[in-house]
Amino acid sequence: MFEGKTAIITGASRGIGKAVALKLASLGADIAVIYAGNTEAAMQSVSECTAYGVKAAAYRCNVASSEDVKATVSEVKKDFGSVHILVNNAGITRDGLIAMMSEDAWDEVMDTNLKGAYLMIRAVCPLMLRAKEGRIINISSVSGLMGNAGQANYAASKAGLIGLTKSVARELASKGITCNAVAPGFIQSDMTKDIKEDNPLLASIPLMRTGRGEDVASAVAFLASSSYITGEVIRVDGGLAM
Ligand code: NAP
Repeated sequence: MFEGKTAIITGASRGIGKAVALKLASLGADIAVIYAGNTEAAMQSVSECTAYGVKAAAYRCNVASSEDVKATVSEVKKDFGSVHILVNNAGITRDGLIAMMSEDAWDEVMDTNLKGAYLMIRAVCPLMLRAKEGRIINISSVSGLMGNAGQANYAASKAGLIGLTKSVARELASKGITCNAVAPGFIQSDMTKDIKEDNPLLASIPLMRTGRGEDVASAVAFLASSSYITGEVIRVDGGLAM
């Protein structure tokens, strides 16, 4: 399905990003794995992607740094030729109640989750414009749709991603570039490993289970394969936010 296409996936060393990388690789895409610092995990992702017979490489890059992002996208262009799919998945949490939330906790989350996506889109955009095609998929969250006590910074960054998605979708539609978002609910990963089984939100998932990275990856692959869906937000949350 994606033979001859190159996908950049941020935060692809672990969790949801890794599941997305493997899914797109299994469908024939060459994969650029972007990660923050976990080189061993990133190399493991690369080796699992190449097992599908595609090309893959890892790039250490802080998505919140415009210098890192510029340098990395230019490396990817050198190594792969172009970029057809961008999945902005890298994300962090620094939870706390709003009255006590430090500016650092606010800034770190906004810089990684929201500014990181803006920097990546800005850097990749010229390549997609030249190719007259592109699929941009931002990983938001149900927190951005519903809000979540203790996650004002995270929810604001994820709601911001939805505004970013719809604006970029409108701006680039005439150029053959689509931009969509996926809003996961509770997905098993390092980010959610401390959520207790008796958390009341878990009991309110209509499908009565947490999700897997593969559940999110399928939605990403679907959006990457469509040329007529743009500005959409697909929830992958077992019905949690309906
Ligand atoms: P995770 O397991 O904690 O993995 C985070 C990934 O992001 C890692 O690959 C990490 O790289 C990378 N990363 C973190 N900061 C970065 C930075 N500044 N620059 C580049 N890469 C960075 O997270 P996850 O649960 O898979 O979540 C992935 C995305 O889905 C996030 O945006 C998250 O907000 C969203 N999401 C998750 C859930 C959930 O239930 N898990 C629900 C809704 C939305 P290293 O390995 O090098 O540290």
